[in-house]
Amino acid sequence: MINPGSRFLKKIAVVGRGTAGSLAAASVARMHPDSELELHHIYDSRIPVIGVGEGSWPSLVQELQQLTRLSHQDVQLRLKGTRKYGVAFEGWGRRGRDFTHFFTPQQVSYGYHLSADLMAELLHESAGASHIDAKICKINRVEGGAEVEFEGRAPERYDLVFDARGFPRELHSSQHIGISFIPTNTAMIRRCPATVRDIKGEPVIEHTYTRAVARPHGWIFVIPLTIHTSYGYVFNQGISSLDEVEADFDAFLEADGVADFEHRAVIPFPNFVHRQIYDGAVARIGNAAAFMEPLEATAIVSAQLQIGMVLNMRLNRSIEHLERDAPVVNRFLVRSMLSYGLFVGWHYSCGSRFESGFWRYARDQAWPEHRKAADPDIAGCDALPRFDEMISLMNQPIIDKADWNRMCAVPLTSYAQMSQGLGC
Ligand SMILES: Cc1cc2nc3c(=O)[nH]c(=O)nc-3n(C[C@H](O)[C@H](O)[C@H](O)COP(=O)(O)OP(=O)(O)OC[C@H]3O[C@@H](n4cnc5c(N)ncnc54)[C@H](O)[C@@H]3O)c2cc1C
Repeated sequence: MINPGSRFLKKIAVVGRGTAGSLAAASVARMHPDSELELHHIYDSRIPVIGVGEGSWPSLVQELQQLTRLSHQDVQLRLKGTRKYGVAFEGWGRRGRDFTHFFTPQQVSYGYHLSADLMAELLHESAGASHIDAKICKINRVEGGAEVEFEGRAPERYDLVFDARGFPRELHSSQHIGISFIPTNTAMIRRCPATVRDIKGEPVIEHTYTRAVARPHGWIFVIPLTIHTSYGYVFNQGISSLDEVEADFDAFLEADGVADFEHRAVIPFPNFVHRQIYDGAVARIGNAAAFMEPLEATAIVSAQLQIGMVLNMRLNRSIEHLERDAPVVNRFLVRSMLSYGLFVGWHYSCGSRFESGFWRYARDQAWPEHRKAADPDIAGCDALPRFDEMISLMNQPIIDKADWNRMCAVPLTSYAQMSQGLGC
C-alpha cells in the first residue's frame, strides 16, 4: 500500500510562519497524498519571524523546485537569489591562508543565497493551508495525537503538530543540550547595496560564496543577494561590547568600500539542541529544535532534515510502528544536530589571525568544553564518538576508499577541506 500512514494523518497543524514553518506547511501539502487533508498553518502575526537565514545548502535547490513546481531559474529569480558554491574563509586557522569550503562536487553543486522573506512567501503559495492568526499557549500530547491550546479560541486536536515557534525562551539542561563550546551568542546585522544583479530577467549564474571573515571580536558574514548584500558581525556579548563591535564593523565596511548601510538588528541567540525533537505527535522544527551560530548555514538544512524524516516516517510506515519509530527518529535528529554543532565549533579550534580576547576564549576555553558538553552520557547520543572518528580519519596519511562516503552531519570532503584550510 502506498503511504500506509496517511490514513492516520488527517489533520495536521504547523505552528509558526518563519522559514521552518513555511517549509513544513509546503512539504505537508506536497507529500500528503490525500486531498481531504486538513492543514492548519497557525502563527501569531504579533510575534515577528527572525527572517535572517540567507545562506543554504544544495539540497534546498532540489527541494524548492519540487515544492513549488517552478523551474530552478524561476525559483532563483523569485528569491532574489544567487548561487552559493561554498563558504570563503578569510583569516581563519593557524596557516594564515584564506581558503574555501566548497560544496561537493566542487564548482558543480550549489545552494542559494536567498531572501528569507521571499522564500516564505513563495512557499505559502504552494501550501494551500488554512491560516489561523492566533497565539498558541500550549501543545499537549493526547491519545493518538496532540491538542493545541489557543489564546481566545477553543482548543483543537491534531494527528501531528509541527512546532516551529522559534528559539526557546530559556535553556534547561533537562530539556536542552547546551552547545557551550561555540563561542558566539549575538549577531549585529547590516544591509548594504547589492553587488550582483539579475540582468533582463535572467538569474545570476556567476559563482558566489558566503564570505566568513575573521575579525578581532568574532567574524563577519557577507551574503550577496540581487536586492542587497547582507553583512552580519557574529560575536560574544560577554566578551566584546556593542560599541567595540560597531567600531570594528564600521572599519571593515570602509575597507570593503561600502559607503551606505542600513542597521537591521542585533540578535542574541542560544546554541543548543532540544533533547525531544520528535515524540510521535509533536515535531519541533527549525529554531525550536536546535540552533547553532550561522557559520555553516546549518539551520535551513536542519529544518529540511527534521521535516523530511518525520513526514516520511509518518506517511510511509504503518501506524503500529509509531511508538517504536518515534524514539529512533528523535535519536537520529538529536545526533545530527549535535554533529552540526561539533563541526561548527571545531572551526574555532585553531584560532585565527587575531590573538584577541575573543579568539583566545574561543580556542582555549570554549572549544575544549566540547568533550564534556557532547559526552554521550550527558548528550544521550553518540555524536561525539562519530565526530572523533572523522577527525582521526583526517589525521591518517591515506584515507581508505571504503571511508570516502563517511559523514558526520556533513560529508568527509567538508571535514577534509576545513582540516586543510584551518591547519588542524
Ligand atoms: C544572525 C543569524 C544568521 C542566520 N543565517 C542563517 C543562514 O545563513 N542560513 C540558515 O540556514 N539559517 C540561518 N539562520 C537561522 C535562521 O534563524 C533560521 O533558518 C530560520 O529563520 C528558522 O526560523 P524559524 O522558522 O524556526 O523561527 P522564526 O523565524 O523565529 O519564526 C517563529 C514563528 O513562530 C510564530 N510564533 C512564535 N510563538 C508563537 C506562539 N506562541 N503562537 C503562535 N505563533 C507563534 C511567530 O509568529 C513566527 O511566525 C541565522 C540565524 C541568525 C540568528
